[in-house]
Amino acid sequence: MQKPRQIRVLPDHVINKIAAGEVVERPAAVLKELLENALDAGGRWIDVIINGGGRDLVSVSDDGCGLGRDEVLLAVERHATSKITDLDDIEKINTLGFRGEALAAIAAVSRFRLYSRPAAEQAGTEMTISAGKIQDLRDLGCPPGTTVEVRNLFFNVPARRKFLRTPATESGHIRHTFLTTALARPETGFNLTMDRRRIYSLPAGDTLEQRLRSLFPGLDYTNLRPLDLERQGVSVSGYASLPALNRADRSEQYFFINGRPAAAPTLWACVQAAYRGSLPAGRHPYLFLFIVLNPGAVDVNVHPTKREVRFHDPRLLRDVCTEALGRALAQPGPARAADPTPSTPATTHPPAAASLPALDHFLRAMSTPPPVRSARPLSTPLSAIGGAHPCPGRPPEPSGAAGTPWNWYQILGTIGGRFVVLETDEGLALLDPHAAHERVLYESLLRQYRERTTAAQPLLSPITVELTPTDAGRLRRGLEALRQMGFGLDEFGEDAFIIDALPVGLEDSNPGTLVREIAALLDEPGAARATLEEGVVRAACHAAVKATHSLPTQQIDALLKQLLAAEMPYTCPHGRPTLINITLQELNRKFGRD
Ligand code: ADP
Ligand code: MG
Repeated sequence: MQKPRQIRVLPDHVINKIAAGEVVERPAAVLKELLENALDAGGRWIDVIINGGGRDLVSVSDDGCGLGRDEVLLAVERHATSKITDLDDIEKINTLGFRGEALAAIAAVSRFRLYSRPAAEQAGTEMTISAGKIQDLRDLGCPPGTTVEVRNLFFNVPARRKFLRTPATESGHIRHTFLTTALARPETGFNLTMDRRRIYSLPAGDTLEQRLRSLFPGLDYTNLRPLDLERQGVSVSGYASLPALNRADRSEQYFFINGRPAAAPTLWACVQAAYRGSLPAGRHPYLFLFIVLNPGAVDVNVHPTKREVRFHDPRLLRDVCTEALGRALAQPGPARAADPTPSTPATTHPPAAASLPALDHFLRAMSTPPPVRSARPLSTPLSAIGGAHPCPGRPPEPSGAAGTPWNWYQILGTIGGRFVVLETDEGLALLDPHAAHERVLYESLLRQYRERTTAAQPLLSPITVELTPTDAGRLRRGLEALRQMGFGLDEFGEDAFIIDALPVGLEDSNPGTLVREIAALLDEPGAARATLEEGVVRAACHAAVKATHSLPTQQIDALLKQLLAAEMPYTCPHGRPTLINITLQELNRKFGRD
């Protein structure tokens, strides 16, 4: 048997290298730490220079408070920090750093140079360190503020250097880090230069809208809605995309907790809840959420990179976020009603994209249904439905406008036996009555379920359904909830069920098919609620499969009004559009009449 080795206290340089492994995973992590320090130093400008994906150089300069000669030496000591003095301070931390280990860790695994000067002092100090050993300390003439240059990261830890990815991959991470930081601080100016190319020049004093537009020039801003809500000391602001603007992953969801970019898996569930039924499965919204709460209510000291945070009252936070998102997504109608300058003739709209007004103004002006994705020629002739609609030219439907995105509208007819064509004061709108019906039904069922106001419609004669043992087991687990929704449902032998009532709104569907569909959707025992709602969505769709193409005008009108009163009128529960708006302005452009 081998003799156990002696227990030893590790020397500092080894500890620093180990710590470096935690704090400094890759060049982007170095950049993150240096940016945090620069921001904590309170300057207005930050200049970032990157070479070779950060493997060769990560340099960050700021015009902040600077460091005197003694402080320069202390700054690279492990656990040396000016930001906290004891453990309690972490509770009320309002700086980005506090662990006092970043500079020491970075300097341990690179060729490191720091020069700095507090504005009040004549000369600055320059310090160079290689692999954790101070090489030089001297006076240097330099502008007020601090510059930290990190070269040849991991040059002395070959095992780690080997794990660095290609410069292109590392550059991607660097850009992401830069972008999230710049987004978190619109009031600070930032430059990013990579391999001698200027990538971003972001002026100081930006508003969030201006910063967003600089960082995401390609984003479809017509589909973003602002958020702003405060409840019990938690405030949520920023922007969220309407369901029409979505993507396959969560990579464009940015959360900032007290100004700190943070991973917030806690919040995924409430995002999901807010968008449930309006986004197709597997699609995610764009989010830029700024959450501000009492520093004591959040624990940022969970992980060395401080990326993950923990909330003392996650429920409250989720509730506030869900409400803020819900309000933002329900905005299109009311936002227009609140517009102090209602557009009378639609032709007075500003020219498309001639200039980009401030985002909120722009958003208000655009708070209409999702923009048209493809304008197909009207190949099918208009076939009028019903004759009793008001004559064109005069504003008919005088009050129909309440809660609608238009001042007036009239139903012209259908095309393709499927889509309803509307003339509006803004141009043209197309309605998919089938999708609209799904949306209306879905929300009404959910409301009944949540408010426990379910109305059940008894069947003329009860029906039995025979299920597979698996499906029967699932249905049994969801039985209670389904009854709450208005299903008259009972076990009837081994794997059979008897149905004697359906929720109001679903009474026209085939009860057997409906129950089978729902059983198939209730998979895991724990997932009951979400999957039940999902089941309702499907159920609503089945019910909506009624022919909607031959509805008389009055019914279409009623449907439209119900749709526009819905929480999320512009998509069906699967995320397909219900209403497509084509403005006169767009038509003019298409016909070359600008
Ligand atoms: P922390 O940020 O957790 O305190 P760091 O190792 O990142 O630890 O930095 C150590 C200390 O060095 C900081 O507390 C701060 O006093 C000082 N410092 C680092 N960077 C700067 C900077 N850019 N400007 C002014 N002071 C700085
Ligand atoms: Mg720091």
